[in-house]
Amino acid sequence: DEPTIYCITPTYARPEQKAELTRLSHLFMLASNLHWIIVEDSEVQTQLVKNLLTQANLNKRSVVLNIKTPDQFKLKGKDPNWKKPRGAEQRNLALEWIRQNADPNKRSMVFFMDDDNTYTVELFREIAKIEEGHVGVWPVGLVGGLMVEKPLLNENNQVIGFNAAWRPERPFPIDMAGFAISTDLLLKFSKAVFSYEVERGYQESEILRQITARVDLQPLADLCTKVLVWHTRTEKTKLVYEEKLIKSHQERSD
Ligand code: UDP
Ligand code: MN
Repeated sequence: DEPTIYCITPTYARPEQKAELTRLSHLFMLASNLHWIIVEDSEVQTQLVKNLLTQANLNKRSVVLNIKTPDQFKLKGKDPNWKKPRGAEQRNLALEWIRQNADPNKRSMVFFMDDDNTYTVELFREIAKIEEGHVGVWPVGLVGGLMVEKPLLNENNQVIGFNAAWRPERPFPIDMAGFAISTDLLLKFSKAVFSYEVERGYQESEILRQITARVDLQPLADLCTKVLVWHTRTEKTKLVYEEKLIKSHQERSD
């Protein structure tokens, strides 16, 4: 039986949100063994997300949760985006859901799938290969100031390091898009969560150090030679004319 891959996507309202989630929903339409856990960073669940799942016929293969990032952690207007952790609260809520709802007798994996990256269908065939008790790892394109950030293997195909140039001293210097976890590990280490109290770039290390060690990482994507996911980022759309439109409407009604 094909294992289920739980894909955890924190997401928040902004002009680009519907476009991002639309791209992701097409991936789910192509890969039937994925289960989408969307966690809205908001006080209430939105019609936008509901409609999107219905449109893509994903109601049976998804769950929507919501939890608002506490105000003191929320990014403000001009904050550089790395100042505060993004998505930590949302990912933790999803982990709680998985721990309560995943069937411990069925093989499954957990993948943290940000809403703005670019994912191939092949990536999910690789994730399905993750063995019990293991964390799968693979290269990620366009991240960490490199074309490709990736695990390094020895002649026995064991992960012995990473090519990361940015903060290479991190316990696991890889991006969120560069690993997935066999669910049994999350059930075994039932307290493993993300934290706000970690420095920039340490979220991945924070969860991984609680559940695995470097020697237990399972290299995927043809022994970490293939790029099957890219850490793309969407430019913030400048909606200057929208603002002018709103102003002129206001003036007319004043
Ligand atoms: N995110 C969120 N609330 C926020 C900011 C981000 O839920 O206030 C989500 C976002 O939609 C994405 C994930 O957290 O799925 C990571 O955010 P982002 O892509 O901005 O991080 P980066 O790629 O810059 O590390
Ligand atoms: Mn991103």
